[in-house]
Amino acid sequence: MALHALKYCERLFYLEEVEEIRVADGRVYAGRRLHEEVADEDTTNERRSIELESEEWGIFGKADAVRRRDGRWIAYEHKRGRSNQAEDGSPLAWESDRIQAIAYAVLLEEHLREAVPEARVRYHANNKTARVTIDEQARQDLRAAILRAQTLRNGNLRPPVTDDECKCPNCSLAPVCLPEEERLALSSNEASPPPRIFPQHRDRQTIHVTTPKSRIGRSGMSLTVNSEHKAEKIGIEQIDCVLIHGYAQISTQAIQLCSSRDVPIFWLTSGGRFLTATCNAGRVKQRIRQYESLTDLSMRLRLAKRLIHAKIETQLKFILRATRGAAEKRDACQTAIRNIRSALAAVGNVESNESLLGYEGQAAKAYFSALPQILGKRVDNRLKPTGRSRRPPKDAFNAALSYGYSLVQALVLRSVLAVGLEPAFGFYHQPRSAASPLVLDLMELFRTPLWEMPLIGSLNRGAWNLESDFDTAHDHVWLSPEGRKKAIEIFEARIKESYKHPFNGHSMEYARIVELEVRLLEKEWSGITGVFAQMRLR
Ligand code: SF4
Repeated sequence: MALHALKYCERLFYLEEVEEIRVADGRVYAGRRLHEEVADEDTTNERRSIELESEEWGIFGKADAVRRRDGRWIAYEHKRGRSNQAEDGSPLAWESDRIQAIAYAVLLEEHLREAVPEARVRYHANNKTARVTIDEQARQDLRAAILRAQTLRNGNLRPPVTDDECKCPNCSLAPVCLPEEERLALSSNEASPPPRIFPQHRDRQTIHVTTPKSRIGRSGMSLTVNSEHKAEKIGIEQIDCVLIHGYAQISTQAIQLCSSRDVPIFWLTSGGRFLTATCNAGRVKQRIRQYESLTDLSMRLRLAKRLIHAKIETQLKFILRATRGAAEKRDACQTAIRNIRSALAAVGNVESNESLLGYEGQAAKAYFSALPQILGKRVDNRLKPTGRSRRPPKDAFNAALSYGYSLVQALVLRSVLAVGLEPAFGFYHQPRSAASPLVLDLMELFRTPLWEMPLIGSLNRGAWNLESDFDTAHDHVWLSPEGRKKAIEIFEARIKESYKHPFNGHSMEYARIVELEVRLLEKEWSGITGVFAQMRLR
């Protein structure tokens, strides 16, 4: 299968076999089903699903079937798609299928110690069988493919995207590889957006468990969530992440199921503070590249400047948008707007992350001073912020703000893990708390659009109730269970909203945009620069 990937596209081979990124989409499941269907009972003249290995060739694999025809054994490979066609109209195996079939034939030959002169590829979509001759040319082609695979495996760089663009829409790794985005970045033709390959929507859901006595367990390939009032069963294929808020319990079996399917689990305190998460072991080559790049001071500064410029510009645009057509509000925000603009103008010229922190702080101070002005007059003054307070939040606004930031943090962390980067290794924030620096870095792009804007919108709509949504003790305010539920609903609704990403010109859910930005960040040290941090308000 690795040789098949290699012949289809070298980048696909590298992503799957070296970086160990595998995406099971509908086509992959359909292919697996086909192989299960053909892996039936063995007969005298046929053996199915046979594992073969050769030290001499340095390969192993599982042939779909080997059959005896006219006293000779033949290796069979089954494919869902259609065959290629020779000039005379006879069915022809595609090159990637041909190499895979040759590999099974030589493995079989060695196993049986007798010549296997032919392999066959059965194409189910057009019901044709292509024959592959196992001659000296076939052996040479196989040798060359194995050598190429070894060379790629020893390298640290991802091969470029394939020149044959037709292959990408059928490739299960397209949402990871982002071929069109990469071609766009390399091309000077900005006239039209590339075709959409990165999906607009998430195809799975996040499970939030907020009720204290809930129990999360496992039943077959599903998670069960039992609370006092209801019981739910959700197939693991439908889940992208589990967030446990507070004291719900989860069984070892459920943790094992989630881990085996790369579904991360996050634990947050009832107050929304991030505690910890499960994460996969990581992909070594990918992380080596990340470490090497993010220890380069010029790279760190370049990325930090792009990030903070995007953050401040988004803050500025939000205030301008919220005060548009409202002269009184705009007047009240004039000083803040001026200060944010001057910080924004300075960011491009800074020469260290420390100076950048200073301008970011200047903009943040001005921005937070403007937020009470853009909350409507009807909003209860006790729901308006009195400055920024974090640990502990000292007013209702800050309590809601901090809780939402934890939800943003969990979303960014799971995107970082999904992409395969090391969350602890960032380029701007210093390691200080349980939060990972790279996650804190990336959150700067999303705090305003994913939480501050919907929070302020919901306050202006009168969606929050001071009595039922908040609990207070001394000078510490936090969200009540109802308040937490409300925050989660607002956040989940927000990340399902679509936004046209400036880079590829396509609308996609905010949750997808977070992952897209993480992937674009990785491209900054994979040969395509200037693509990260284009996310900002229009
Ligand atoms: S999306 Fe295209 S370039 Fe990327 S791995 Fe797949 S076939 Fe290769």
